[in-house]
Amino acid sequence: MIAYRCRTLVTMDGTPIDNGAFTVDGSRFRDIGAAREILRNHTDSVVDLGHAVVMPGLINAHCHLDYSLMRGAILSARSFSQWVGRINALKRSLTDNDYLRGTQLGHQELRRNGVTAVLDIVATPQNLPLLPPPPIRTWSFLELIDVRPRPWIEEIAFGSWLFFSEHGERLGGFGLSPHAPYTASAKMYEIALECSRMLNLPITTHVAESREEYDMFAEGRGQLYDFLRKLGRPMTDCGSTSPLRHLIENGLINQDCIVAHLNELDDRDLELLGGTKWRNLQIVHCPKSHHFLHHRRFPLEALMERGLNICLGTDSLASNDSLDLFSEMRTAKKVYPTLSARDLLEMVTIRPARALKLERSLGRIAPGYFADAIAIPFSGATEDVYEAIVQAKGPIKWMMINGKPVN
Ligand SMILES: [Zn+2]
Repeated sequence: MIAYRCRTLVTMDGTPIDNGAFTVDGSRFRDIGAAREILRNHTDSVVDLGHAVVMPGLINAHCHLDYSLMRGAILSARSFSQWVGRINALKRSLTDNDYLRGTQLGHQELRRNGVTAVLDIVATPQNLPLLPPPPIRTWSFLELIDVRPRPWIEEIAFGSWLFFSEHGERLGGFGLSPHAPYTASAKMYEIALECSRMLNLPITTHVAESREEYDMFAEGRGQLYDFLRKLGRPMTDCGSTSPLRHLIENGLINQDCIVAHLNELDDRDLELLGGTKWRNLQIVHCPKSHHFLHHRRFPLEALMERGLNICLGTDSLASNDSLDLFSEMRTAKKVYPTLSARDLLEMVTIRPARALKLERSLGRIAPGYFADAIAIPFSGATEDVYEAIVQAKGPIKWMMINGKPVN
């Protein structure tokens, strides 16, 4: 068993510990506390991480790693549907090898920036067998789209699940991601729900990201409506209700679904989310992608008042310039000044762990939790260690995943 000491230990499970230490037994944390207590009886090796704050590894709750070669390739668009058109054109120009390389580069960038776990939406499952085991905990959510009918979707979903169940040594897991109500049919959502029930898989989806999506479902009009109608999407589900209520009222998502965005909610949506039935819906906000796509203000305060669990994600490099959650936290802080640094850190540690139903094993430095941690240079000159972490820039100093230090 190895013990680690640091200037300040931020466990996210209590108050920060000055001159803190922890021990790691296999893949899990064991003893946590003041260095003088922990190291007194510890006769095995001790690693001194010096002037650093150590905290749980960050969890990116929404990402598309296979788009990681797209950084800077798409100019900011006048409208959401114009951006969708541009990313679709770009996707057609990329090869399987580009997506493969993108995933690997994306993983490296996450790791440099202190991310030890990611919820990744996979548009290119054919590449999964060609990739080495992921270097961080990775939940791979198979993207499901059927604007135009896609044959064999059950077989693709089952084949991907089989691949993951046969590679049990991989850190993370497998899930399904019907893309969004404008790109995935009711049938597709139903298939995803059925697979989720049978195989106990998490589901994530994009909902109410843009005003155009809201107008398409609520009003049956707008640029996204026209764009998809021209592509041949049946539009009979449009013109009656909001995107969120379209999914809820038709029984197309379950109550603990991980929902990205929810930027465009009306009063009835908020009323629904304030009730007990949908209180467990898990929400991901992507601050920098939100800014890039010029969405209206995310209703963070209204959702927090209703007790919903909100996490942060980066989304992909098609709408962001980095996969850096520190930068996302700083962007969120500017837009929502009432959020404390501690609130922001919860959104990248214990809250995404809760979204994955792993709040008792991930996202904290606590006995029995998975030993995923990062160290950030910290002189101790400031009183507010949480604020110092949010303001941290540059590569992290040290990282541990599943009990093993990584370079
Ligand atoms: Zn996304």
